[in-house]
Amino acid sequence: MGFFKIIDKGPGLKRLFIGGVHGKEGLSTIKALKRISDEDVKEGNLVIYNCDESKYISTLNPLYYESKIGKEILYLINHYQPDMYIELHCYKPENYTLLTEIDRKNRVGVPPLIELEKDVLIGSVSPQIRTTVFRKEDICITLEMPCSPFNDTLELYTSFLKVLAGAKNRKDLEDKARKIYPEQVETSQKYAWEIFGDYPPF
Ligand SMILES: [Zn+2]
Repeated sequence: MGFFKIIDKGPGLKRLFIGGVHGKEGLSTIKALKRISDEDVKEGNLVIYNCDESKYISTLNPLYYESKIGKEILYLINHYQPDMYIELHCYKPENYTLLTEIDRKNRVGVPPLIELEKDVLIGSVSPQIRTTVFRKEDICITLEMPCSPFNDTLELYTSFLKVLAGAKNRKDLEDKARKIYPEQVETSQKYAWEIFGDYPPF
């Protein structure tokens, strides 16, 4: 059983943050998840789960959701029915280019991740779940940082998680994110349109 925590501040947005969904990524993502405190959630609730180590299968691979850990994640999503679903990942620094190059869509069928700052990357979640278990209006985000991150990267990653934890709804999140990362929000909206047509961003 991985790390599990619920912060409940009554009615409002339902959030689910899951870290370390494959391989050893949980060893890094737990460091960020443990820094989220009750005060970061103003209303609604936040369910935090950090997975134990598992075999590495890409979440873009349909077989992932048939694995033990993949089924656990589907269970958590179905059980908590989040309006906001955040997946925390980490990557090997040598994979930075593969994740962010413009050609990623032709290669693996999903748009490149977008850098916020300090090697922290943002994108949508696997199309395997984005278009099937979530509603159009749900907020679905993947956040990546290098595994075993430097402290300033971990701090930036955590501070963005806190923005997500504190956002009251999609509009509130977009307003807040646009103030800090205007170009990145615009690019993510462009990618979302390319993939989902009239889907909302993220
Ligand atoms: Zn990953």
